[in-house]
Amino acid sequence: MGSFYNDKEIAPEFRNYAMQKISEIPNIKKVVIESRAEYLTKEKLQGSKRLLGNKILEFSIGLESSDDFIRNSIINKGLSKKGFERCMQLCAETGTEFMAYVLIKPPFVSEKYAILDSVNSANFVFDTAEKFGVNARVSFEPVFIPENTFIEDLYLNKKYNVLNLWSVVEVIKNSYKKGIIFAGLSDENLSKDRFTRSCNKCTEKICKAVEYFNKTQSIEKIQSLSCECRKEWFNEVKDVIK
Ligand SMILES: [Zn+2]
Repeated sequence: MGSFYNDKEIAPEFRNYAMQKISEIPNIKKVVIESRAEYLTKEKLQGSKRLLGNKILEFSIGLESSDDFIRNSIINKGLSKKGFERCMQLCAETGTEFMAYVLIKPPFVSEKYAILDSVNSANFVFDTAEKFGVNARVSFEPVFIPENTFIEDLYLNKKYNVLNLWSVVEVIKNSYKKGIIFAGLSDENLSKDRFTRSCNKCTEKICKAVEYFNKTQSIEKIQSLSCECRKEWFNEVKDVIK
C-alpha cells in the first residue's frame, strides 16, 4: 500500500491538486488517506485540511498489532508505539480523524492468541485515541493466503491454519463497545480455502451478519449466530473466551 505523505511516492504538487479537486465534489464528505508514520507531519495534515475545506480528513495507518513482537518482529512493520502515538497526537492537533488497521491472526499466532491480540490491539487504539482526544475507528483485517507469499509457504506446509470465522465474530463481540469497528471480508477473489470461513452451513450466514454489523454497528445479528461447528472452534479457543 502506498504512503500518501511520502514525497518520493506522491509529489506534494499532485497531493495538493488531488485535495483541491476532491474539495470541489459536493458528495464527498470524508477523505481517507493512508501513510506510514514517518512521513506524517503537522504541516502536511494542515495543508490537506486547508484544501479540503469542510470535508472530514481521516488518517489511516496499519498498526496490525499492539504487540511489539508481532508487529515488528513477525510482520516487520517498523512502527514503534511512540511513532503511533505521534500520529495520534498530530491528528489531535489538526482535527483529523484516525483509522487503524488491525490484523486477525498473523503468522505464528495461534487461533486462541489471535483473538486476544486483535481485541488488545483495538483496545490500545481506542485508549490512545481517548488519551489524545481523537475520533478513531478500527478496521480488522482477517489474514488470508495470497499466492507467492511467505504466508502461503507456511499454509502449504501446514504451519498456518486459515482463521476461523467464529474468531472474527468473537473479536467483534469483544471490541464493539469500545468504539467504531469493522471487519474486512473482501475475499480478494481467492479460492475459498484461503480466506476466513467456518462450515458450509454457516459461513454465508456469518458473513452477512458481519456485513450488517459493519454497516449498522448493531450487534444483534452477531449475538444470535449459532451452528454445530461452533463447538469445535470453541474447544480450541475456550480458555480465552469469557
Ligand atoms: Zn457452521
